[in-house]
Amino acid sequence: MIRFVALLLLATMWIGCRIEDRPADAAIRDATVADTLLAVGPPVLAGDTTHVDTAEAAIAEPPAPPVVAPSGLVIPVEGIQPADLANTFDDARGQGREHDAIDIIAPHGTPVLAATDGRILRLFESERGGLTIYQLGPDSRTVYYYAHLNGYADGLAAEQPVRRGQVIGFVGDTGNAVPGNHHLHFAIWTVDDPAQFWDGTPINPYPLLAGP
Ligand SMILES: [Zn+2]
Repeated sequence: MIRFVALLLLATMWIGCRIEDRPADAAIRDATVADTLLAVGPPVLAGDTTHVDTAEAAIAEPPAPPVVAPSGLVIPVEGIQPADLANTFDDARGQGREHDAIDIIAPHGTPVLAATDGRILRLFESERGGLTIYQLGPDSRTVYYYAHLNGYADGLAAEQPVRRGQVIGFVGDTGNAVPGNHHLHFAIWTVDDPAQFWDGTPINPYPLLAGP
């Protein structure tokens, strides 16, 4: 009789364990199914308007964060790394002119970012530069110049304050850029009088953006 009771107890404990196991097993199975669903994404039925935004979210990638160089300037073209830059500051540009700028190659329409805080001095269209932006830096004597733009950021205007990394325009091939050679012509110079902002002493942006 004692042996029978002991067996019964053992059997009850075993069944108890099995019953306790079941929810855990079920939970694992459910998790696996849920993970699979997450990985694949929910099924989208034809005419199902609740999941339309899933496809749009996949297309609209978040913008890459601005790349800040050790100088404190932001590389003024979205997605460009220091290693992508070339030092074209001393290149000749015909008729005895020197380049006094660097060209940053990027796909047409890539956002152009303010290299530093400051304010917009002028939006200007010129024969050589095409659509251009002149920006004054926070020291009120350094000018940042962006040229060959495809267009300006919505609402951008002269005298407007801008923040470092703000989108101010888009890469293009306007002005005397070779058609299809989309790039940002980026120059920095210092002026004695900001009222004469177009004429100053050039500074090579390359070491400021690419590092020493
Ligand atoms: Zn150039």
